[in-house]
Amino acid sequence: MPENTSTQHADSDIVVELRAVDKHFGPLHALRNINLRVNRGEVVVVLGPSGSGKSTMCRTINRLETIDSGEILVDGAPQPAEGKELFKFRTEVGMVFQSFNLFANRTILDNVTLAPRKILGQSKTDAERRARELLDMVGIGSKAGSYPAQLSGGQSQRAAIARALAMEPKVILFDEPTSALDPESTQDVLTTMRQLAERGTTMVVVTHEMSFARSCADRIIFMADGAIIESADPETFFSAPSSERARSFLSSVH
Ligand code: ADP
Ligand code: MG
Repeated sequence: MPENTSTQHADSDIVVELRAVDKHFGPLHALRNINLRVNRGEVVVVLGPSGSGKSTMCRTINRLETIDSGEILVDGAPQPAEGKELFKFRTEVGMVFQSFNLFANRTILDNVTLAPRKILGQSKTDAERRARELLDMVGIGSKAGSYPAQLSGGQSQRAAIARALAMEPKVILFDEPTSALDPESTQDVLTTMRQLAERGTTMVVVTHEMSFARSCADRIIFMADGAIIESADPETFFSAPSSERARSFLSSVH
């Protein structure tokens, strides 16, 4: 596993901080005064109905979306606005989406080693050794030489997770990583994510998998209409949600 400790800002335990973040899409107020701190090693699970702003919030963290006002700090530093710095910054914030976005014409090993070689400047030997360790860790070591089309959905998503880990990110954002998968693949991916959580990976996870949220989250964030309306430990959130919105959400997913 990559070390999650940063030598650059090792004094701070806050890996991601959103301060008073606002975002509009034209007339739509997509994020309303979002304040969120993610501590090193913490697993924050983001719940909320469709359209509540969960993906938008994730996307602002690695600047796939710009914000209208407020501030976002990663490891204590503001996001770079553009250029090489932004490019490097994006490599420090891993992202795993519903769609795996693997390069179809490259082997799984190549998919995992490409960015570490091109962006981190790792040698082929080092990148491949590390990639094989990561593929073993996520349980698809035997697929290193296969092409994405030869993998199941669950194997593809685990390859995408290995690819994100290969960049040794400070935090990994998961946006509904299992929602396109069949039940068995979903369990395989959740097992991998559970292992990452246990190893102290800093994670922000948007999911509808309540059993994962209950058992793996250090904290639950509940969003509705672009705002965070609850932030609680899982025990409190699931047994005694304080808002009517959260209560009706929970009754709809159970
Ligand atoms: P969630 O992930 O919780 O389902 P999203 O963050 O995807 O919600 O979307 C929040 C709101 O912002 C929705 O109303 C959605 O339609 C809108 N939205 C998201 N992305 C865009 C965009 N690029 N342009 C316009 N509206 C968008
Ligand atoms: Mg979404």
